Amino acid sequence: MEGIRFTVLGKEVYVLPPVLIVEDDIKLARIVKAYLEAADFRTVHATTVGEALQKAEAELPLAVILDLGLPDGSGEELCQSFKELGDFPVIMLTAKSSEEERIAGFALGADDYMVKPASPRELVCRLKAVLKRYDRSSSSPESGASFNNGTLILNSRRHQVSRDGHLLSITPTEFKLLLTLASSPGRTFTRDELVTRALGYQFEGYDRSIDAHIKNLRQKIEKDPRTPEYLKTVYGVGYLFAGERDAL
Ligand code: CA
Repeated sequence: MEGIRFTVLGKEVYVLPPVLIVEDDIKLARIVKAYLEAADFRTVHATTVGEALQKAEAELPLAVILDLGLPDGSGEELCQSFKELGDFPVIMLTAKSSEEERIAGFALGADDYMVKPASPRELVCRLKAVLKRYDRSSSSPESGASFNNGTLILNSRRHQVSRDGHLLSITPTEFKLLLTLASSPGRTFTRDELVTRALGYQFEGYDRSIDAHIKNLRQKIEKDPRTPEYLKTVYGVGYLFAGERDAL
């Protein structure tokens, strides 16, 4: 499994994105958390639909364990929002057990489904199995794009960017922005277009915030951020991506 690479006190460490546990039953959430952490997963916990969306946007989780009965909304709707946000597996954990309900869960994009009371050990096994399936399917060529002779690689399934073979630590917003620009190399995007396409509904405010994101992205992907090779400014208009896509 790939993680995000950091250097801590001179040592390189990999940090996997966390597993998001969405569960309003605190006692049950604690048990699931303990089992996942014993299996070396990092976890974050949310008890409501609102909190779950906020944490999923901030962390882009490795996977989500999703309870369907939440105090401020349904897990079913949440599952659809997750699928719009990124490409990570969702395991539904629920008291609902009829065949129709399970089939409805899969139709919403759930990758697995467990009925309460569920065995936490089985949950960990199922999570590992789902992640293995994801890893395999995410290595398909259409999920990645490579630029300038493999110098810059974007993986749209895993929301990862690597430069010269090193994975970069990149925020979900930066990723969306880069993916938008890189999807049409050479095309100039206005700030307004970038706000709409890359930041979407979650964005309220001034389109100059795009400039701040571009600045951060340049620090990460450019050899020399002051003379960018990929993210070029088109004065008075916006930005364009100048990388050359490698032939497969
Ligand atoms: Ca519940």
